[in-house]
This record gives sequence, C-alpha cells and structure tokens, in this order.
Amino acid sequence: MRFSSYDIVTRKLNNGGHIILSGLTGLLDLIDEEAYELIDAHKDDECLSDELIDQMGDIKDHFLKRGYLTELSPADELRAAAKKAAEMEAELTGGKWSIVLVPNLGCNYRCSYCFEKESGYPKRTMNKKQVDAVYEIIKDKIPSGECITLYGGEPLDARNRELVEYIVQKGKERGYYFFAVTNGHGLDSYMDLLGKDMIRILQITLDGPSYIHDKRRVSTDGLPSYDKIVSNIERALKETGVEIRLRMNLDHSNAPYMMELLTDLDKRGILNNKAVTLAASPVVGDSDGMLKYDEVRGMEKEAEAKYPKLKNIIMGMLRGTNEMILPSLFFEEPIALRVTVCGAAHCMKVFAADGSIYSCWSCVGNPAEKIGQFDEAANVVWDGKALERWKNKMLGSKEHCLKCKYAFICGGGCLRPALSGEKDVNAHDCDFYYSRFDDHLAKLTEEYLSAGNE
Ligand code: SF4
Ligand code: SF4
Repeated sequence: MRFSSYDIVTRKLNNGGHIILSGLTGLLDLIDEEAYELIDAHKDDECLSDELIDQMGDIKDHFLKRGYLTELSPADELRAAAKKAAEMEAELTGGKWSIVLVPNLGCNYRCSYCFEKESGYPKRTMNKKQVDAVYEIIKDKIPSGECITLYGGEPLDARNRELVEYIVQKGKERGYYFFAVTNGHGLDSYMDLLGKDMIRILQITLDGPSYIHDKRRVSTDGLPSYDKIVSNIERALKETGVEIRLRMNLDHSNAPYMMELLTDLDKRGILNNKAVTLAASPVVGDSDGMLKYDEVRGMEKEAEAKYPKLKNIIMGMLRGTNEMILPSLFFEEPIALRVTVCGAAHCMKVFAADGSIYSCWSCVGNPAEKIGQFDEAANVVWDGKALERWKNKMLGSKEHCLKCKYAFICGGGCLRPALSGEKDVNAHDCDFYYSRFDDHLAKLTEEYLSAGNE
C-alpha cells in the first residue's frame, strides 16, 4: 500500500488544516496537520511499512476508499488511469455538438499577436444559403436552448450586419442564442441584435489603457480602437441586456498597464456593472515571452485589493476551476473529472465561410486541420482520418499527461497544433495547474469555511 500518485495536497488553510484531493476519484477531504505531515513524509514511498499503516488507524480505510491510498504499484495505477481515460472517452462519442460559426474569415484589425497573420486574413464571407445549410446540418445535433458561438476573423464587423442579422434571426427561430468573440469595433451596428434571445454574451479584448491598446490592437480604418470600443461597450451596457466578458491578453509589455486600464474602466462605471466580468490571460504562442501565472497572480492581488469586486474573477482559467470545485464543497460531490479540456476532440464543429469545417476555432484558416467540407445544399464530406486524429488527442493518448496528478482535472491541455515560436502548446495549462490550482483550491475552501459552512 502507498499514497496515490494522483494525490493533490494543498498548503495549510487559515484554520490549520489542508485539503487532500484525489486526481483519480475527484474526492476531497479536509485533513489535519498530523495527517498532512504523514502524507508529506511518505508520499513517494513505494510501499508503506506495516508500522506506519498501523499508526494510521481508522484513517487508512477512509483514505483507501477515497483513493488517497492505493494497493496498486505506480505502473498499475498508471494502467488504471489509462483504462479510466479510455472509458470516459468512449462515453463522449455521439453526444450533442457544440457549434461555432465563422461568418467571415477577414478582420478589420491587425493585432500584433494575431495567429491569423499567417493565413493572410482571407476575405471570404458566408452567404445566406451557407447559413441555411449549417442550420440544416446541425438541426438534430444541438437542441433548442443551446448557445452558438460567432467567431472570426471579426464576426461583428459592421460590413457583416445583414448576414449576422440573418444568422441571429434564423437561430432565434430555432431557440438558439449566441456568444460572440468580437473586437467590439463595429458593435454600434449591432445594438438591436444584442440581448438575451439574440447575441446574449460578448467577449471583448482590451489590452491596456488607450495609448497601449491602440498600439497592439490596430484598426484598419485608422480610428483609435480603444475609444471606439469603450464607447460601444458603454452604449451596449446602457441600451441592451448583453453580458460582456472583458478579456485582457497580457504579456511583459502591457502587464504593467493593467491597473491603469482598470482605473479607467472604473471611472466609466464599467467595472461595477453586474453584466461585466473580467478575465486576464497570458498571451500564448511565444513560450519564452509568456507571462507565468505567478507573475499574473501578483497583479491580480493588487487589482483585488483596489477593486474587491474582482476577487476570484480576474484570472481566465479560474472561472472553470470554480465551477469544478464549488459543487464539491457545497454538495460533497466528487469533482467532475474530464479527459479533454474542450470539445475539439469530439463535439466542436466550426463552420467557416469558405465551406471548411474545423474541430478547433484556433485552426480556422489552416487547411491541414480541416475535418470536413460543407456546401450550400447542406452536403457534408467528412475527413475520416482527420476526425480520428483529433479524437486521438484526448487524455488517454497523451502519455505524459496521464502521468500527471492533474490529468483528469486539467483534461490534458489544449489540443491545437503549436503556433510558430511556441515550444509547448500546453505551457499555459501546465503553468496554471502546477503554480496556481492548489492555492486556489485552498483559497476557495477558506472562503467556504469562513462563510460558516462545515
Ligand atoms: S484545442 Fe485548444 S484552442 Fe482549440 S478549442 Fe480546444 S482549448 Fe481552444
Ligand atoms: S497539460 Fe500539463 S497540467 Fe494538464 S494534464 Fe498535461 S501535464 Fe498535466
């Protein structure tokens, strides 16, 4: 018997205890300092001594049942993890789709870090027959009430107004609502399409105060982008019921200006608007230049101290982590484990303006990553080999990730191919789990306990 290779044990909480979480069963418990010291001293032992097992008393059976202790050798436990991943992956096939629509491949911006630079911003816009075809193709694949993502290029370019109105109206008739990833520049042309039953959620990027943002996010119409976007956001919040997720893409060059951006948003009443949430994420793609989560954490603390509303919401990956951990704390349910970080390997279908279908929105415009093709008559030709290749990107096929104690919590990281200049496509995910997850689990538990829960 030994401690599981998938045990995750947090720092000391402010009540003196620690959290132990099994990355294989998803179960967690509060343990005292004595149990923590025992685990810490023997976590790497290949076999616990009889004397130690006796010393553990009743806790041994509880730990075995919860998965913190195992009778399996490290190699057998790894095999058990692989089997579990394969079973979970099998359950994912044949489920409902998650849909992304790319109404146009071009963009009205030339952002300094955009991956579309490599595909030359092709100017291709969907026509209405293609829109009808997509709705026909997906009609039995996503039920009414689901969300469709609008992505680009820039989906809410003012020049797309007529087309996007057609997409939204047809979607609304079918009971869908929309989430749009937009630069926000042309938003003033879309006010009447924003709201609960239409475009319900917007993700808009602001990379700093105006003099920083305008250098990084450059509009092709020559207008200063920050002022235009922020005035569009103010108008959307005033006139519509849209929810806005503001995103800050941070790297070493703009990170020092984050507080200045927050001050401006606060002055304008945007920060305190209940319809607004924030997420700050390191820019990915340049492995050497990427900000580490520890660095972002320092900035986050400063922001939280000045604006308490931002507590727990500023960091991009924390939203999903909260959704994962909170039910476990409140309802004593195991954490929902996963074998993939997103739907790209099994359910995500990205329909692009040139008739291509992709698995991942970051692959739009990369012909090598197409999984199929559709036409105006709603015929689809799938590329079986490409589909299989994406299916095989899930956790069970990632030997390195299967050995990681966060494997079933992380799901094995992002699946897209590496960008040029990117050494490790999973650097962002690994950095989050290894430098931030445990502390956040401890922090959430402290908040839960300090609210009077047990
Ligand atoms: S594979 Fe990566 S980039 Fe693509 S949708 Fe999934 S998480 Fe996003
Ligand atoms: S991507 Fe990193 S954190 Fe996630 S499972 Fe793989 S090794 Fe672990």
